[in-house]
Amino acid sequence: MPVADYTLLAECGRARRGRLTLPHGVVETPAFMPVGTQGTVKALTPVDLEGAGVQMVLANTYHLWVRPGHERIRALGGLHKMMDWSRPILTDSGGFQVFSLKEFRKITEEGVKFRSTIDGQWRHLTPEVAVEVQEAFGVDVAMALDECIEWPAERDHVARSTDRTTRWLARCNAARRAPESTALFGIVQGGMYEDLRVEHAQRLAAMDLDGYAVGGLSVGEPREQLFAMAELGAAHLPKHKVRYLMGVGYPLDLVDGVLAGIDLFDCVIPTRSARFGVAFTSRGRVTIKHARHRDDPGPLDPACPCYACGRFGRAYLRHLFTANEILAPRLLTLHNVTFYQSLMARIRRAIEEGPEALHALRREAEGWMAAEGGNDASESDA
Ligand SMILES: [Zn+2]
Repeated sequence: MPVADYTLLAECGRARRGRLTLPHGVVETPAFMPVGTQGTVKALTPVDLEGAGVQMVLANTYHLWVRPGHERIRALGGLHKMMDWSRPILTDSGGFQVFSLKEFRKITEEGVKFRSTIDGQWRHLTPEVAVEVQEAFGVDVAMALDECIEWPAERDHVARSTDRTTRWLARCNAARRAPESTALFGIVQGGMYEDLRVEHAQRLAAMDLDGYAVGGLSVGEPREQLFAMAELGAAHLPKHKVRYLMGVGYPLDLVDGVLAGIDLFDCVIPTRSARFGVAFTSRGRVTIKHARHRDDPGPLDPACPCYACGRFGRAYLRHLFTANEILAPRLLTLHNVTFYQSLMARIRRAIEEGPEALHALRREAEGWMAAEGGNDASESDA
């Protein structure tokens, strides 16, 4: 069986219901991966994640390579053992973080030299190193090193950069030493130029990779453009391989990504928002520090099965948050991660039920974008 075996179970328009089988388990798709930058989804234990229905997590190569180091992680038995997480893990290539170190990096055809913000050391991230480090982690899915460029960008620049990404992908593929235990996904680039996107998706499709990501999006472009480009990329990728949209997004974005033909997502939004006291609920966004929750004994979200919603009222959560108690971000993170997983489960059911169910869910998700029970101005008035 292939290292990343994708079975297409049902289709509804462009939306796909599938099953991705990886070395550490099965992922029912569409699926959302919470982000565990440092080898931990901040504030949660692996037991919490499993209870929330998380099937797969993402970890960041840049951070774990610099500290504690890939050789140390390998010696400790790999990332799964170190984190005590038995389900699948995907790591990014480290490229995105390195490219964002604007004043401390130098890009050549060979790779990217950069000065780490953690230990001040100069390091060289090449396609070969990106693969070596991710294979040392022992993750289920490694991402190929791609060149990340700013938006907007001139067509010539995008075309040259996309070609380099293809050459780097070929080098990543050649550098693999554990293709039976770590899959390699390639990343479709092409900026916001439709023909470049299509051409790149076709070139990558011809390489018959384990899976594919649509990259270079969510970089500041208008929302409509993001989903148009995701749809265009997805449409030219192989039907029987998994498709991953990197770094997206809000609950409504996940629904729109699925409608564009995407199977896999990751984003820091649910976990980061929780630490800022923002919860996503079936009644809209809740800013827990707001004074109107001061005397409210009701749950964050009556429709949510999580421990925080089952046992605690808003008044207490608000008190914890305003008193800077460590339990507040923990409970809000647990809630947001559960909310996202519940949403993905509903999306999967809706795809099986058909277009009406899927569009009804999209209309509902539109309502979740606004602040609960009113406008943003009243929410921010703490
Ligand atoms: Zn909850």
